[in-house]
Amino acid sequence: MPYLPGQIATASNQELSQHTCEGFDEGHCGKPSELKVVGETDSFGSEFHYMCRECHTKEVEHYKENPTLETCERCNQEAVVRPYRDPDEGMSGPVYWACSPCISKYMEYYREDEPVNQFADDEDDEPWTPEDQAQWEADEAELDHLRDQEDEQARQESNADAQ
Ligand SMILES: [Zn+2]
Ligand SMILES: [Zn+2]
Repeated sequence: MPYLPGQIATASNQELSQHTCEGFDEGHCGKPSELKVVGETDSFGSEFHYMCRECHTKEVEHYKENPTLETCERCNQEAVVRPYRDPDEGMSGPVYWACSPCISKYMEYYREDEPVNQFADDEDDEPWTPEDQAQWEADEAELDHLRDQEDEQARQESNADAQ
């Protein structure tokens, strides 16, 4: 399961017991690790840091109090950026960093766009066959015919009104 930086990864007690806390801000604390924290992440995987709860809390608070400004990859403004993935590229796609307004705007856009993408996925599962094409053309012809009939009717009605 791919992660985003800052998340807590699932780890068995056995795995945690094999690591001691790496500490926060290079300060090795050496206590037994209690959490597996996701570090740098790219499409190949994530780096993990083992920490005790105390150090992790300190780290989270440190970043809350000292937000680092970086360039948002979407609007190019200096801002507090958060990691996100492009839903189109899936959970193993690259991690992008963007400011919160850009991420919410993007996610909103994606939600609106979703039905189209789902349709595209359906097409992938079932390739478009010549029969589908023939059916589609027949449907289109039928629709055209109905539209012509409607147009004709509208013309006659407007003629009747004019008289
Ligand atoms: Zn610690
Ligand atoms: Zn932005």
